[in-house]
Amino acid sequence: MTQMKNSLAELNFNKNIPYKGHYDLIVAGGGVAGVAAALSARRAGKNVLLIEKTILLGGLATIGLINFFVPMCNGRGKWIIRGMAEELLRLAIRYGYDSIPEDWKNGEPIKPTMQRYCTRYSPQIFALVMTELLNNAGINIRFDSIVSAPVMKGSHCEGVIVDSKSGLEYFSAGVVVDTTGDADVLHRAGVPTRQGKNYFTYCGHALTLESCRRAWEEKNIAKAITGRHGGNADLYGKNHPVEMPTFCGTNADEISRFIVLNQCRMLDNIRIEERISRDIITLPTMCQFRTTRCIDGDYCLTTGDQYRHFVDSVGVINDFDQRDFLYEIPYRTLVRSGYDNLITAGRCACGDGYAWDILRVIPPAIISGQAAGAAAALAIDTGRPIYDINIVQLQQALEKADVMIHFENALIPEIPSDDVKVESEHF
Ligand SMILES: Cc1cc2nc3c(=O)[nH]c(=O)nc-3n(C[C@H](O)[C@H](O)[C@H](O)COP(=O)(O)OP(=O)(O)OC[C@H]3O[C@@H](n4cnc5c(N)ncnc54)[C@H](O)[C@@H]3O)c2cc1C
Repeated sequence: MTQMKNSLAELNFNKNIPYKGHYDLIVAGGGVAGVAAALSARRAGKNVLLIEKTILLGGLATIGLINFFVPMCNGRGKWIIRGMAEELLRLAIRYGYDSIPEDWKNGEPIKPTMQRYCTRYSPQIFALVMTELLNNAGINIRFDSIVSAPVMKGSHCEGVIVDSKSGLEYFSAGVVVDTTGDADVLHRAGVPTRQGKNYFTYCGHALTLESCRRAWEEKNIAKAITGRHGGNADLYGKNHPVEMPTFCGTNADEISRFIVLNQCRMLDNIRIEERISRDIITLPTMCQFRTTRCIDGDYCLTTGDQYRHFVDSVGVINDFDQRDFLYEIPYRTLVRSGYDNLITAGRCACGDGYAWDILRVIPPAIISGQAAGAAAALAIDTGRPIYDINIVQLQQALEKADVMIHFENALIPEIPSDDVKVESEHF
């Protein structure tokens, strides 16, 4: 078979793909990071196009059925992650259930508490409110459309080719934010990337007669929802079948095998239950992969960076699974020098090992998305390459939007935390 030499962009450009207009910012992927990036740039006065391959916003946090905002505090009553993460958390629970602990019901507690500020929410309602939010903000949302390829001139991105029911179309952009979760766009643009690995995880939402009874008794609809698994591996690989290789999550054949195996496994698990006593109400419609591909950015966050201050911090985040540990997100985890108008956020921000996990969960993904959107606006306004914007100006904009940029040293414990892990089946 003759090998196809040209990139998709080169091939189809010769066939006159219709030009659909220019946007200051194009956001590729409408997960929570993409939503935050789009909103942040829009609030800075930019015209924004958000392109999402499915027909719901939220990515893993909605269609991936991950309905849990991990803790946004230090585990001793200090509220750490704010900004747009807080705004979206509040939105997620405005019309649906929540599980905010008692001590946090009225905001940051006056006294120290070991309870952590986190909550469950309805993924479907969260998706609906994000659509309304972006629509009301004047962001152009393009659903059911895939960003197929960036159109590059050297290391500058002129725009993107989008594939949808309308066929291939070309949109030009001032800046492109890759929030695909897999760094697909930046990878195709030539930005160096790092590969992750994933365990065998597949969880749907279910109802049982027993969970419905409990919900009725406690007058709390959230109690009706329970889980059903195919693969049931956790973040650390516990329950991953010994004989099974891990999954990279960026190979179509492997992804298909992952889904087939998981769906068959789920069926095996439920067919032993009584047929009329339970139902699966939602299956994830995107792979529940945690770390697939991130950029090899100008800085790679590691666990050794806990309690480290960065001059280019764009937000403080906390460890979700252990008390006390704090990190600052260096802006350099979102960019790669040389690529003057490409940036990423969320799952594709540059981290190593568990530090990648710290960066990718919902609240930090929102914080990096918020930073990416604000940075894009600043790059456009000042005409500077996105990897070389004025960091102080960016930090001022984020601080104004209630993001904590640096943590106080008083929050560093004298004795390192020897604490237990947070109870959750997720992460
Ligand atoms: C099993 C599991 C459990 C988890 N548990 C928790 C938890 O309990 N709490 C927590 O806070 N976090 C948890 N996480 C992590 C968290 O859900 C995600 O890391 C976070 O939501 C990532 O957000 P994102 O916007 O970066 O990416 P994603 O959610 O991956 O969003 C990417 C979006 O881009 C779209 N897209 C992809 N490619 C294209 C393209 N080419 N063109 C257009 N659109 C495209 C996708 O459809 C998707 O909407 C868990 C993750 C997994 C897998």
